[in-house]
Parts: sequence; C-alpha cells; structure tokens
Amino acid sequence: MLNIKDIRNDFPILSLSVYGKPLVYLDNGATTQKPRAVVDAITNEYYNVNANVHRGVHFLSQKATELHEQARETIHTFIHAKSTSEIVFTRGTTESVNLVATCFSEACMNEGDEVIVSAMEHHSNIVPWQMAAQRRGIRLKVIPINDKGELLLDEYRKLFTERTRIVSVTHVSNVLGTVNPVKEMVSIAHEHGVPVLIDGAQSAPHIPIDVQDLDCDFFAFSGHKIYGPTGIGVLYGKEEWLDRLPPYQGGGEMIQHVSFEKTTFNELPYKFEAGTPDYVGSHALAVAIDYVSALGMDNIHQYERQLTDYAMSKLQQIEGMRIYGTADDKDAVISFLVGNIHHLDMGTLLDRLGIAVRTGHHCAEPLMHRLGIEGTVRASLAFYNTREEIDILADGIQRLKQMF
Ligand code: PLP
Repeated sequence: MLNIKDIRNDFPILSLSVYGKPLVYLDNGATTQKPRAVVDAITNEYYNVNANVHRGVHFLSQKATELHEQARETIHTFIHAKSTSEIVFTRGTTESVNLVATCFSEACMNEGDEVIVSAMEHHSNIVPWQMAAQRRGIRLKVIPINDKGELLLDEYRKLFTERTRIVSVTHVSNVLGTVNPVKEMVSIAHEHGVPVLIDGAQSAPHIPIDVQDLDCDFFAFSGHKIYGPTGIGVLYGKEEWLDRLPPYQGGGEMIQHVSFEKTTFNELPYKFEAGTPDYVGSHALAVAIDYVSALGMDNIHQYERQLTDYAMSKLQQIEGMRIYGTADDKDAVISFLVGNIHHLDMGTLLDRLGIAVRTGHHCAEPLMHRLGIEGTVRASLAFYNTREEIDILADGIQRLKQMF
C-alpha cells in the first residue's frame, strides 16, 4: 500500500499554488515531477563529485564513473536485462527510437523491406521510420485500431510478409491509455523471425517491466517521465542485435582505436554512446528508479489502475463527456472532449483553476485523424495524484460547461 500523503511530501512542487489555487498536476504523461532525492542527487553531484567520466585517473573522475556505471546496473536490474552491455544511455525515447531506426535500417533493411508500426504511435515512433524510409526505400505498414482504441491483432498478423524486417510499437498509448499486448505481439513477430522495438515511454513509469519476459529485442524509455531528470533515457537492446548494428554517432567514447586510415569501435554499450554522456543525469535517473522501486512497481501499478478507474467513472458521469480510449486494458491516461468546447479553451480555463492538463494532438496526429478530431484534453496520472484531485478536475469541468 502506498502512503500518498507521505509520498506527496517528497515532491516539493506539488504544494505550489497556481493562480491562488492548489496545483493539481495531471500532465504526467508529458513529464513527471521530481522527488527531492533526485534533485538532491543532481546538486550533490555537481557540488561534490563532478568530473568527466571513464578516462580520468583522478579521484573525482573515478567517483563520477562509478556513479554512472552503477546507474547502468540499477537500470539493468529494474527492467531485468541480461547484462549491463544491453543498456545504452540516450537522451530519451525519441533518441532511442532514432538510433534503432537509423542503425537497423542501415544494417538490416533494403529497398522494399517493411516496418510495422501502429495507428496509435507517438510521432517519435513514426517520423524516424519515415526518415529511414526515405533513405533506404523501405515501407511503413500500420496496425489499425478499433473504436475502443485497441489494436486489431488479427490485422496485425496479416501485415507480415517476407519483406517484414521489424515491428516498432508503443507499449502504452500516450493518448488513449491503451496497454497493448506487447508480449503476444513479440511472440507473433518472432514466429516470423522479426524483431520488435517497444516504445516504453508511457509504460516504464507505470507497469513493472521485464524485458526478458517480454522477449522484446529493443525497449526505449525516457528518464523525465519516470521521475528522473530531462535529457537522459535508455535504449535496451538484446546483445545479439546491438552487436549486429553499426554505431549511431561517431566521436569520443565509442571508439577503441583511431587512426586516419582506420577506426575500430568500442565494445557494447559504449559503441552507441559517442561523446561525454549525461553522467549526472544517469545517476539522478538511477536515484529516481531506486525511489519507485522502493515504493514497488506493483504497488504503483495497482494504485494507478484504481485511480484511473475512479477517474473514468467520475468523468463519464459528466453530461456531454466523450472519452477517447476505453480499452479493457487501460492505464493512467484519459483523453476527452466535452460537448462542443474546444480542447484549448478547456485546457486554458482548467489552468485558471490550478489544474494542469495537456491539450492538442499529443504528438499523435495520425491517431487524431483516425479518431476524426483535431485534439483532446488529456489528464495523465501519477502515483502522487489523489481521488480528491480527480474530484477537483470533474468539478472544474462542470463549472466550465456551465460557462459555455
Ligand atoms: N513515445 C511516447 C508514447 C510518448 O508519450 C513520448 C512522449 O510523450 C515519446 C515517445 C517521446 O518521449 P521523449 O520526448 O521523452 O523522447
């Protein structure tokens, strides 16, 4: 069981007032707030440790290197990877997907080859593949959804051809909250000998992740969405795949030896980590992961599920409410429109009541086209949110409805 009152005390920003109203922060899908431990870790590292990592013989450099590599250990345990060589630090999910789209398409795809994505992808899991498509002459195929916002698995099965080279799908939709059956999808892809990249931006903060159990080939997530700092993220890749892929960027760290005639590349995972890494960010991310691990990902998942169910039933009672995304397996994200109130008006006016929600297409324009709308209001939840906050949201919506 989570003690939400104590937890909220760990997040100083949650006691802010906005326009004289207590902040109700329901924009966790965009980014989460940071516990004191994470902010302290950043300050402490800059005050007491800071030095560039890996090549330094001096005390501080060794200490910073230790923290950075311990962070890799922490993440490896958190997602249950086989080895730390499979944990590549990136700037976030976007960079992780770009890395795979670039390197995989270069090494393993030829003109006419196909990548399968879904109708509910974030732009960051569409555009990198489109860019690869332009460079390599490959094609995107799209898994359709039903009106509840669930992927159609029969249609997914039919998309495989002898030209399918990779599947790249989101675990949890950032618009619909749908939790996709990724384990089953991986197993289907593997029957065709096709690897799978899972976009875990919206799942890693909410659902216990076991990459060996999922058997996915790649898994991407962002530090800032899991209570860590911005600018750091993770790409997990099975060693056999990471070994097969060429480096992403060139520079320091990713090399073994360089001469003007020939360069040899570093071992995994450094082959994919050109330049000075965000070693303060990696350590702070590990502190964030220690924080959620201490709460227990199962407890977080259970609490957030109950809160999502509560929010769904509460919002559904509002006349004129249309909720986008009513999948049987749904997590922590609720997108909606009310009557003919524009999403931007709703978001702006809720803000005046101290309620932070997101409005717009949520970087998922193709999904908006599928739903036949331009945008939604999105409330996205975290374990520090409460039923009282959901009530404030529902009351706020009622008030705005009357205004219109
Ligand atoms: N994928 C999904 C499903 C997301 O929700 C997001 C961000 O909202 C991203 C990818 C991109 O994450 P980032 O901007 O941290 O790279």
